[in-house]
Amino acid sequence: MKNCAIVGINWGDEGKGRMVDLLTEKYDVVVRYQGGGNAGHTVINEYGKFALHLLPSGIFRKGTVNILGNGVALDPENLLKEVDEITARGIAITPDNLKISDRASLLLPWHRDLDELEEKRLADKKYGSTKQGIAPFYSDKYQKKTILAGELFYPEVLRSHFEDLLEWKNLTLTKVYEAAPYTMEMLDSWLKDYCERIKPFICNTGSFLQKAQNEGKSIMFEAQLGSLRDLDYGIYPYTTSSNTLAAYAPIGSGFPAARIDDVIGVVKAYSTCVGEGPFVCEMFGDEAEALRKAGAEYGAKTGRPRRVGAIDLVATKYGIEVQAATEIALTKLDVLSYLDKIPVCTQYSVNGETTDHFPFPAVLDHAKPVIEYLDGWKCDISGIRVFEDLPVEAQRYVNYVESRIGCPITYVSVGPERESIIVRKKEMAE
Ligand code: GDP
Repeated sequence: MKNCAIVGINWGDEGKGRMVDLLTEKYDVVVRYQGGGNAGHTVINEYGKFALHLLPSGIFRKGTVNILGNGVALDPENLLKEVDEITARGIAITPDNLKISDRASLLLPWHRDLDELEEKRLADKKYGSTKQGIAPFYSDKYQKKTILAGELFYPEVLRSHFEDLLEWKNLTLTKVYEAAPYTMEMLDSWLKDYCERIKPFICNTGSFLQKAQNEGKSIMFEAQLGSLRDLDYGIYPYTTSSNTLAAYAPIGSGFPAARIDDVIGVVKAYSTCVGEGPFVCEMFGDEAEALRKAGAEYGAKTGRPRRVGAIDLVATKYGIEVQAATEIALTKLDVLSYLDKIPVCTQYSVNGETTDHFPFPAVLDHAKPVIEYLDGWKCDISGIRVFEDLPVEAQRYVNYVESRIGCPITYVSVGPERESIIVRKKEMAE
């Protein structure tokens, strides 16, 4: 059986959660390999509506093993909150269906504080952090100043490691930010209240994945956010602090030898962007408000209204290239049903010249969108399950996007529910 990665092609919130939830049926293992609880996947299934932050979206499927790999920002407090919320609604979460890598670094209590303190210091120059401690966490990880989940099983090592970190971190907290220091007692109660409860889930996920692959099981790698938020290839510095690309999945999962056969890129039928940073195709005023309302574009984690715009074919093509996507799931096509004419950003104009290429981040502020309009279909398409049954204008929209991005659109999503999907045969899209 083939392995796949499901990744975002744009700025995140493309609807990856609903695609993972739909496709997990075919996979034995689902792995989150980067990021933390700073974004949300929304999943609607037979148990109800859920906003997942850290848990893999395969958690609802019986028999699916879900893994939090070493690349994630493992926040025990938030993870347990999520586990408790989901188990309260009748879904069993046990060490059989959730496994945490012993090599995952722990997001420590001070990481959230530092996020908050730094955003306050930046004031109006802030980057729009979700204040979940992700940036301070990853900085510390790369400075080798966090704790690995597996250290929880070695109390003496853990204690002396924590004493060193405490001394170091209190310097930053008290001298740079003039904040209150942490004490060992505070850390002890954090260990007791949260870390003890996650211990049963911690194991060597690398050897589990290796064994799964040897046994012919199929693995799905689930990304958070999208190409344009990738630390190395995104709109730096308005990126996240980890790699959102499929290429990082083997490393962040704990199974560097993992083979990924298919990369399913998720693209929304229009654009959205949360937080600060350049967003070339952005719409404003009533036009934006109408699209935001039609698509219910408010952050799953923060409730913040998302910035919205036309589908951006320049950014999408770039996003597909850096993800090496082999196929595309186009989501939320139904949201566009209210429009007479559908705007599409086909090119950028930079200093008077039009281009198809996504520019270097510093140039994005000077880029203007070139907008073309396609005919709308003006009817409800949410009940349609066969591509040819879509109004001809909707078919044309999908085919146009496909021809411009150069990657087959194999799924068209027309509603948030698991079954609201049109599956296109690959041959058809080629
Ligand atoms: P993710 O982080 O990429 O999973 O995306 P989000 O969960 O933040 O945003 C996707 C939102 O759109 C969720 O509320 C989904 O339930 C919803 N959604 C996903 N696909 C569709 C679709 O095809 N149509 C509609 N109307 N909503 C969708």
